[in-house]
Amino acid sequence: TPVVVAIDGPSGTGKSSTSKGVAARLGMAYLDTGAQYRAITWWMLRQGIDPADTAAVAAAAEKPEIVSGTDPLAPTITVDGTDVSAPIRGAEVTGAVSAVSAVPEIRARITGLQRSIAEGAAASGPGIVVEGRDIGTTVLPDADLKIFLTAAPEVRAARRSGELGGPQDAARLAATRADLVRRDTADSSRTASPLARAGDAVELDTGDLTLEQVVERVVAMIEE
Ligand code: C5P
Repeated sequence: TPVVVAIDGPSGTGKSSTSKGVAARLGMAYLDTGAQYRAITWWMLRQGIDPADTAAVAAAAEKPEIVSGTDPLAPTITVDGTDVSAPIRGAEVTGAVSAVSAVPEIRARITGLQRSIAEGAAASGPGIVVEGRDIGTTVLPDADLKIFLTAAPEVRAARRSGELGGPQDAARLAATRADLVRRDTADSSRTASPLARAGDAVELDTGDLTLEQVVERVVAMIEE
């Protein structure tokens, strides 16, 4: 049975819901790596550091203490002891996270955290589901199972827009879709660590599947 599962893909593919669902079903730990990049971005903004100032971001990369709680039913994230679960989902952090996470010193710092969390979970329990963009390619290339989730941009925009709550209208959907495409481009055009499917990853298009069906398929692959 695999103990380390990497689930990668762009936002809006159902990555977080799938990863949490799979981990909860199998009693595994869960790590949201996007939340870690968002958390360090939140801290940079709080410090008054300009996300575009690569040197300043790099110089501060080791400073904040970032702690991820890995219970899939109640994941938490703190920065220097402050719970930042809510503010890291805001527009300010979302608009700055691609720039901050492109800085090599940030990636080295966060990747190190991810590897130690995964090693700890693999050594001590039934394993961990790690979700992100570069988990199967860069962070955990030896993961026991790698999944790459995809979905058409329209599907992803509708899902992300639904997650944000509030009234749904065409303008808002278009804005969400534009933001997703902008972040995809920013995330995949950078050299530091592009969003990419590992050669040995199983690709799964979630467009025509319910969350339950996706969870079911991944659970079946783990139990194989
Ligand atoms: O998954 P989520 O949308 O929360 O990720 C936020 C941002 O964090 C992404 O747009 C990307 O810039 C960055 N990220 C990354 N590598 C990861 C996970 C997230 O660069 N493994």
